Amino acid sequence: MLVDLRSDTVTRPTAAMREAMMSASLGDDVFGDDPTVNALQQRVAALTGKEAALFMPSGTQSNLCGILAHCGRGDEYIVGQLAHTYRFEGGGAAVFGSVQPQPLAQDAQGQMQLSDIAEAIKPDDPHFARTRLLCLENTWNGHVMSDAYLSAATQLARDRGLSTHLDGARVFNAAVASAAPGQGALDRLREMADFFDSVSVCFSKGLGAPMGSALCGSAELIARARRIRKMAGGGLRQAGLMAACALYALEHHVTRLAEDHALAQRLAQGLRGLPGLTLRSAQTNIVFIDVAEGCGPDLVAHLKKEGVLVTGMVGLRWVTHLDVDEQGVDHAIAVVRRFFGASP
Ligand SMILES: *Cc1c(COP(=O)(O)O)cnc(C)c1O
Repeated sequence: MLVDLRSDTVTRPTAAMREAMMSASLGDDVFGDDPTVNALQQRVAALTGKEAALFMPSGTQSNLCGILAHCGRGDEYIVGQLAHTYRFEGGGAAVFGSVQPQPLAQDAQGQMQLSDIAEAIKPDDPHFARTRLLCLENTWNGHVMSDAYLSAATQLARDRGLSTHLDGARVFNAAVASAAPGQGALDRLREMADFFDSVSVCFSKGLGAPMGSALCGSAELIARARRIRKMAGGGLRQAGLMAACALYALEHHVTRLAEDHALAQRLAQGLRGLPGLTLRSAQTNIVFIDVAEGCGPDLVAHLKKEGVLVTGMVGLRWVTHLDVDEQGVDHAIAVVRRFFGASP
């Protein structure tokens, strides 16, 4: 048995998703002619409450086009020290856009202190880059950011004349996990998107599409982003093949994210109390576990031998998704318990 918990990006398109792909109407999207891409863009713009959306090959390109649509050469964006848009995108905004990041420390929930944000906003002075944008990320390491924080941080940014961008690679997980009783996940998504001028969402993570992201924002912002996407080589032709998967995923794979969250809880529960393991969080579909000094590499090797794949060596990350079921999670738990000589 192979249980791949490295990421929610490892899922294969389902049979129904492949069907949707095969029957999609196609056109040349660089001419704006692909009806399936257009339908997806309209759908995701409506879901996030924005005027327009743009389909992108990856989340990295979506964030890059977003940042460069907000900021010009010599501008800067405020971003978490460990945020994807600073740390994990190859410095793209600086490399391609001459946009300087201003990274700030984050707490365990991924939040930058409001006072740090306020202090980092530079006065209009030729010594400084022009501070233009605040970037947040939700979920962050599986955590759902509170509305209180989203509201306060984006209000602070607006009061100081900054735009706001959400890296919402897993914002669907955040919406499902934090919807009020009786509230639909998509209504919740809209509420969270409302705090921001632009939102980037991924279809290739928990939603299970083979690839693709979308940047959502005002018509004007998206027009600028379209130009930048073309420069970045992201103008694709019959992209409706991929947009069909994303549309299918929006229709069928959002509410089921609750199953991934329940499996993450089951995994956390099964591993709780083992000496040498410290569970950090399991709020959505990502479980972080710190392994006691020295035994991380042995545990990871043991897991691999038994067909359980995770990422990390000391702080291990376990991600549940569409292609993992209860049996797989129980296998992973049993393998870890055996390693520690605990009863199954
Ligand atoms: C995955 C991810 C992205 C985008 O990654 P791609 O691999 O380029 O699609 C952006 N932000 C976060 C937080 C992510 O997890």
